Amino acid sequence: MEIDENGVLRLKGRIKAAKDVSFTLNRPAVLSGDSSIAKLIMKHYHERFNHGNHNTVMNEIRQKYYITSLRSKLRKIAHECQWCRINRSLPKMPSAEGDLPPERLRHHQPPFTCTGVDYFGPMSVTIGRRHEKRYGALFTCLTTRAVHIELAESLSSDSMILALRRFIARRGTPSDVFGQRHEFRRRKQRTDEHTRGTREDEERSRRPHHNLEVYLPALRTWVAPGSVWCDLSKPRWPLH
Ligand SMILES: [Zn+2]
Repeated sequence: MEIDENGVLRLKGRIKAAKDVSFTLNRPAVLSGDSSIAKLIMKHYHERFNHGNHNTVMNEIRQKYYITSLRSKLRKIAHECQWCRINRSLPKMPSAEGDLPPERLRHHQPPFTCTGVDYFGPMSVTIGRRHEKRYGALFTCLTTRAVHIELAESLSSDSMILALRRFIARRGTPSDVFGQRHEFRRRKQRTDEHTRGTREDEERSRRPHHNLEVYLPALRTWVAPGSVWCDLSKPRWPLH
């Protein structure tokens, strides 16, 4: 390398004798890849050659300049170039979603015909001089997404049944109630088996409604935690 009469650092080439070779090709100016002038030069060539591939741009730059770390610096220039970003980006395709189950599509039927239920809380309440926990039972219509909230004293089954009874007294009997792990379906026909025996009678009297049967189905994808009513019961504000 040598410094010319203008103070520019240049590579000292060995092809001085070659004909039809420009002065800058024989003695290109040496520039640091981190310098601002080198970045401007690379950006200029990048745009001049239509944001093309790096080899073309590198070849054109090396006709006049020797820029250190040229390939990696050019890659960085192309990465930051807005035109290249837009050109590289792909249109966003909507994610494929499965069909809704029939319980979500009960149109022309009363609200809460198909209902999902989940608890939220606990909330601390003051009774006299003591503090106790209370839970909110959130019922939501799977079709209209209407919401009904009942207060539950505890996480026990009796507390849940009482909350469900109050809900039914206010909103009517749903045909299907889905919990996180439980499913209640309206019984279509009473069988003799269910009407026999004192224990079964006792069990039936404890049910929230005589027309509702309790099922424990295998968890379905949309019944699993994170489905419609579980999302609703996540707290979005401090509960206490
Ligand atoms: Zn570009």
